[in-house]
Amino acid sequence: MQVVAATIFVFALLQELTHGEEFGYDGSIGPEYWGERYRECAGKHQSPININVLRVKQVTLPDLVLVGFDDSIDDVHVTNNGHTVLIEVKNEPHPRVRGGPLDGDYVFSQMHFHWGDNDTFGSEDKINHRSFPMELHMVFFKEEYGSAVEAVKHSDGLTVLAFFYELDRHQHPAYDEITLALVNVTEPHTSVVMSHPFSFLNILPYDLKRYFTYKGSLTTPPCSEVVLWLDFEQPIRLTHEQIEAFREIRSSHGKITHNFRPIQPIGDRVVYYNIDNNYYVYNEIEEHEETTTLRPSRRKKGNDAHSLVPTVYTISFTLMMLFSL
Ligand SMILES: [Zn+2]
Repeated sequence: MQVVAATIFVFALLQELTHGEEFGYDGSIGPEYWGERYRECAGKHQSPININVLRVKQVTLPDLVLVGFDDSIDDVHVTNNGHTVLIEVKNEPHPRVRGGPLDGDYVFSQMHFHWGDNDTFGSEDKINHRSFPMELHMVFFKEEYGSAVEAVKHSDGLTVLAFFYELDRHQHPAYDEITLALVNVTEPHTSVVMSHPFSFLNILPYDLKRYFTYKGSLTTPPCSEVVLWLDFEQPIRLTHEQIEAFREIRSSHGKITHNFRPIQPIGDRVVYYNIDNNYYVYNEIEEHEETTTLRPSRRKKGNDAHSLVPTVYTISFTLMMLFSL
């Protein structure tokens, strides 16, 4: 009887330790052990990676089309899933993305964040080995697969729009709603509905034209190699306090002070760097577009200078990244 009781106790303890969190970022459930339980985590095309700006292949891809990013969405849920903060949209139709390197339409599934113990690191992908304090992942599944669960079974199933954060002295007003919601989801497996409508475009950076893109994986188990990554070059700027609010979120092991996976070997993969060479052509087309394109008219100002001198810009960007090492 005692043996049975002890066995039940150990089992309960194990359950408690791994409750809904079959992976973590430290100790025996940390990233270096993921491959033992999830075979794909030991794959050859894993994410995140370091992007070496001197080795990217510069391309001009078709325009990305962001549909519904300008909409004011009123049924938005913020959830602490024990690993990160998830933002999900309950209204239909969901925002979607197509164009760029994508073949077909991809429907929004959820967005979430990765951060570090302090402001010197926390992003998953790195640029020239530079870390950013936080990273946003907007996850989309290919429409023809019907759901994210089904899409993960296909090599072109998902695309993630990834955005880096950097520090600013000024608060980003669009993030106030999110940080307010965080206070109510500090405990794992809790959820709240945002009190005000939410627009995707408001939380993103100004320049959505320049991005790196490569084929990789989910950065959490099961690490499925089904993701086309788009890493936008221009970071989103938040204050230290706004980033700090994420570090208050708890898992069943305590505060989630960090939840980024270390970089993985790039292997035989090529990273492409998209530069917009079609500013004027694009502008003419835009007049007839019904959907939200990447550059709504109010965003035009200031972008043409870069487009006129893409080569000069690329060189200066490369130099900038070198000096930022
Ligand atoms: Zn992620």
